[in-house]
Amino acid sequence: MQTRKPDIRSLSREELTQWFEQNGEKPYRAKQVYEWLWNKNADSFDRMTNLPKDLRRRLAENFSISKAGLQQIRRSADGTLKNAVGLPDGLVVESVVIPSGKRLTVCVSSQVGCSLDCTFCATARLKRMRNLSAGEIVDQVWQAREQAAENFDGRLTNIVFMGMGEPLLNYDNVMQAIRIMTDPKGLGLSPKRITISTAGIPKMIKRLADEDPGTGLAVSLHSAEDEVRSRLMPVNARTGGLEALAEALQYWYRKTGRKITFEYLILKGINDNDGAIRALIRYASRIPSKVNLIRYNPADSFDPYQNADEEWFEKYRNELTRRGITATIRHSAGSDIEAACGQLAGKWETDLPSIPHKKLK
Ligand code: SF4
Repeated sequence: MQTRKPDIRSLSREELTQWFEQNGEKPYRAKQVYEWLWNKNADSFDRMTNLPKDLRRRLAENFSISKAGLQQIRRSADGTLKNAVGLPDGLVVESVVIPSGKRLTVCVSSQVGCSLDCTFCATARLKRMRNLSAGEIVDQVWQAREQAAENFDGRLTNIVFMGMGEPLLNYDNVMQAIRIMTDPKGLGLSPKRITISTAGIPKMIKRLADEDPGTGLAVSLHSAEDEVRSRLMPVNARTGGLEALAEALQYWYRKTGRKITFEYLILKGINDNDGAIRALIRYASRIPSKVNLIRYNPADSFDPYQNADEEWFEKYRNELTRRGITATIRHSAGSDIEAACGQLAGKWETDLPSIPHKKLK
């Protein structure tokens, strides 16, 4: 029986160096291989032309190079691209490339499906199948880089972990992916251009603050009232509620000195009221932060939520601004191709292996 060779891309730079040392090879060769894998996006050992042929053969005998590939692309009227990203084991996740002024942002997935049950999110209906590897996360960035050059004649400027899954529940692989993205021998990106977006898991936010990868942090807040937030995001009640979250975010700010971005949907009949605005002002005043007010895109006709009336967006922004809190109303890109916030749910025109749905509770 043939056993699958380990994927060389799952090794960190240190582990790669160790393998070379243990196998009687010069450590600088590890650096060369690392550069081929991450800086030049090589998909075979044969392409590593500055390595001796014998070494390339040995590497091919011991390792594989497994990459995620683009399977389908949908293009929105506003230019947004939604990608179906095929993983080596046949599963599919989604990434979204969003042009906006001088910015070109890719929104990457970190898990196949999601275990958190945010009630406004289409991904929440999909079973969490597994975590993505660091390589599978970085592949989405590479693909977006190539799309940036081909379609937008430009450079990818920002990376947000806001696709499928909760990045802080795939902590080690997300951190390794960030190391690869920011390593000059890897993708060489500035950590300032990377944002981790979380549903808000206090213990993991503190861990992130301690290790500080230099990235931004965004939190899906959507309500500053415990009862409402727990209804929208059951993780709220399970992790100590808004108080525990505030404490973790204050800790993040003390450790990193960087402000938090709150993502905030305004939903009809849920938080389009004056009490909700007052609660948000009180909460955001305690934590150095800014607020993104987001329009909601129902995933389908069974969706229980609706976008609030436009006047509430103005009202929220004006009230927050008046109290010295920076607030912006975010344009939601790609809603016509289900690429907008909360819409990533594996819906494609032709048959792609889809992620199983969770059983309804
Ligand atoms: S919003 Fe994020 S954390 Fe919540 S279910 Fe969707 S993908 Fe998971």
